Amino acid sequence: MELASLGEFGFINRIKKAQLPHPETVAVGIGDDCAVYRTIQGMDQLVTTDMMVEGIHFDSSLLEPYWIGYRLAAANISDIAAMGGEPSQAVVSLAATMEHEVEWYTAVYEGLHACMQTYGVNLIGGDTVHTKGQVALSVTLLGQVPRGQAVLRQGAKPGDIVFVTGTLGNAQVGLESLQAGIDGYDFAKQVHKGPKPQVRLGQLLRQEGASSLNDVSDGLSSELNEIAKASQVSLFLKPKDIPFHSDVRAWAKSGEGTYKSPLDYALYGGEDFQLVGTMPTASWQAWKKAHPQEPVRAIGYVKAGAPGLFIRLKEGQTRSLEAKGYNHFTRNEDK
Ligand code: ADP
Ligand code: MG
Repeated sequence: MELASLGEFGFINRIKKAQLPHPETVAVGIGDDCAVYRTIQGMDQLVTTDMMVEGIHFDSSLLEPYWIGYRLAAANISDIAAMGGEPSQAVVSLAATMEHEVEWYTAVYEGLHACMQTYGVNLIGGDTVHTKGQVALSVTLLGQVPRGQAVLRQGAKPGDIVFVTGTLGNAQVGLESLQAGIDGYDFAKQVHKGPKPQVRLGQLLRQEGASSLNDVSDGLSSELNEIAKASQVSLFLKPKDIPFHSDVRAWAKSGEGTYKSPLDYALYGGEDFQLVGTMPTASWQAWKKAHPQEPVRAIGYVKAGAPGLFIRLKEGQTRSLEAKGYNHFTRNEDK
């Protein structure tokens, strides 16, 4: 069906039908001039926004509309996870073109709704306009964290360890193998389409004493440089301790992709939406005892010194890693 024949109000009516996972916090949802939502005493409110434009942030010939919606919601939710918070309410703005049919937009919203349901987020409003350019979608997400407890980028201290959740480099490998039309790499492809923001782990890491936290949207080198600069410390990475899925190892080895080593995928890949951060050593020892099953690994340490990220090559040898600057790390190193 063409969007024009359904009209703006017909379209909004379709969106309205979805169930709210937490109706008790919503006094007025979609349908009035503003939504009215309720906050809990003793909680700080978090707000974040993310925008995606067709052709720049997603390729609609490569990614199904459901996953376009899912990924946009996931990227926003990940920013709340990176504060140690809990996501709560969302508004979505859509600039729609007539190039896609109603069914395409409905599928985008199904993906948005599915991700928001999974993480307990109420969709309480938005705006819909027509554009002659590309589709643009924007989510503004609200969340909450106990007062004064948000985990910032500036809290890393000398003596802390650097940790990461899950495995890294998957989303980039998923995208590249999809673009190349190569079969297999199903785990990596799924991370690219439907990343899993680490909300539960973010909250747990906050409770257990994480001193800084960031989500991996641009790659480890960028995220850890941000923590180093905000905290005015040196971060040292131990490449052998970075966890990888077998898809990333296999893709790097195949030579089909941008990088030839799993490490480069972790450093420069991005969009995995895992969490990286720091924690005092004593808290980390306690964490390992209390949560042995959780997928959180120590991958480095913090020292006083020039703000930046350094990689430990061999005993006594380190190299500075710019946020984006140094590609093909291993190939250069192999010379
Ligand atoms: P107004 O003219 O007051 O801005 P609209 O006609 O734009 O109202 O929207 C009507 C209702 O539908 C509002 O509650 C708005 O938040 C909601 N809404 C509009 N577009 C979207 C969208 N793309 N996604 C979710 N809710 C939407
Ligand atoms: Mg409006």
